[in-house]
Amino acid sequence: MGDLADLTILDAGDGLRAGDFSSADLLEAVTRRAAVTEAHLHAYLTLDHEGAAQAAEAADASFAKGEDRGLLQGIPIALKDNMCTRGIETTASSRILDGWKPPYDATVVTRLREAGAVITGKTNLDEFAMGSSTENSAYGPTRNPWNTDKVPGGSSGGSAVTTAVGSAFGSLGSDTGGSVRQPAALTGVVGMKPTYGIVSRYGLIAFASSLDQIGPFSRSVADSVAMLDVISGFDPRDATSINAPVPNFGGSLDRGVAGLKIGVVTEFMGEGIDPHVITATRAMADRLAGAGAEVVEATLPSVEYALSAYYLIAPAECSSNLARFDGIRFGHRTQVEGTTEEMMAHTRAEGFGPEVIRRILLGTYALSAGYYDAFYGQAQKVRTLVRNDFTAAYGHVDVLISPTTPTTAFSVGEKAADPIAMYYSDLCTIPSNLAGDPAISVPIGLDDAGLPVGFQVMAPSLGEEVMYQVAAEVERLAGFTERALLATSTVVAP
Ligand code: GLN
Repeated sequence: MGDLADLTILDAGDGLRAGDFSSADLLEAVTRRAAVTEAHLHAYLTLDHEGAAQAAEAADASFAKGEDRGLLQGIPIALKDNMCTRGIETTASSRILDGWKPPYDATVVTRLREAGAVITGKTNLDEFAMGSSTENSAYGPTRNPWNTDKVPGGSSGGSAVTTAVGSAFGSLGSDTGGSVRQPAALTGVVGMKPTYGIVSRYGLIAFASSLDQIGPFSRSVADSVAMLDVISGFDPRDATSINAPVPNFGGSLDRGVAGLKIGVVTEFMGEGIDPHVITATRAMADRLAGAGAEVVEATLPSVEYALSAYYLIAPAECSSNLARFDGIRFGHRTQVEGTTEEMMAHTRAEGFGPEVIRRILLGTYALSAGYYDAFYGQAQKVRTLVRNDFTAAYGHVDVLISPTTPTTAFSVGEKAADPIAMYYSDLCTIPSNLAGDPAISVPIGLDDAGLPVGFQVMAPSLGEEVMYQVAAEVERLAGFTERALLATSTVVAP
């Protein structure tokens, strides 16, 4: 057997139940892996050695007593550092929250703990989840394990990398416009954004509340199902939580795609998308047809305005959400003396990085009297049009497919000075956030430079079961998962 850190969650679970190894062994394996990879990649901001060791011990004690709380019991999982963890520093990669220890756990964290998962630590992100490269972190960038001159994507770049290299077996990220799917694509792992409202946002540091959803990173589609099963479900502490039983996400994983109708999104197969990415996507679409699906062209005419609408709605919501960071209630407070107003202004100027300030300014402007209708109001109308486009498309196809990202991983620094170029990274992912629908990125191969290519499967609201059904077939056809593991661990190992 190879290194334990390279197992999927399901295989690790089989080994735990067969008594081949313990949760403490799994934790040791990921800790050893992190000791090698962190110096090159900087995926973690905090490693909670003590808490993780206790959780692993508790999981092993449960197994010994014959208690089984499901597929995540004893499995080391990493969390993006914008999810509150009681007593463990939670920074959202911002100076303004430097040293802040939340007094409570986010609901997803509570659910993971109740399921017996072992939380390894907190991972790096673009400050407050604003970005597509994990370069906007106040604590320094995370790098791509496939080529350390490249970005891992973002904003959940740290979480993506822990799963890619085996410094965790899976991880959670948040996806407001693509922040789980885009870094998953760029690092060669599976990343999914659930239907809005099926995973609680309680304890997730809010960026844009009408778009934010927490989702899992994993090394296989089946692992993604196992994680979503644990973190989803009604939570009275999130006012937007759907009060209904969650669908059977994994019910059709083995069913194949025969009889399904799959639409290739025309708008994401042309201008603005790298020709190599288009070729790889088209080849997979053909293979899905070969596997028995009916593959047709589908059009979402309003998506050409989706990016613009997102960059009004998300900043508008963030300008309101981030008003709470005022030097009084959380984290950093300026040393500069003055009136309360001056204290707040200095605290915010010192605490927020340039991208966060840009978003707050944009959002405040878009919401101001006299401009509200022209900007925010208009963007909301576009959001409705995008949602209507999806509804119309799902009137004749079961799922939609597209590239996850316009390009494979780009170089560190390449887009840092050009916000608009950076914003384009989320061209293909943002529409699902505007619509509130589920979508997943599955790795399908490597480009000529040896960098992973992601393939996106989108489904209607609460359509996770059919989304996972198609994703599982894509995974089988691509046969990529094991290569990703091998390649990433050799790239970074000495
Ligand atoms: N890259 C997008 C942005 O910067 C999406 C971020 C996210 O999904 N959190 O807003």
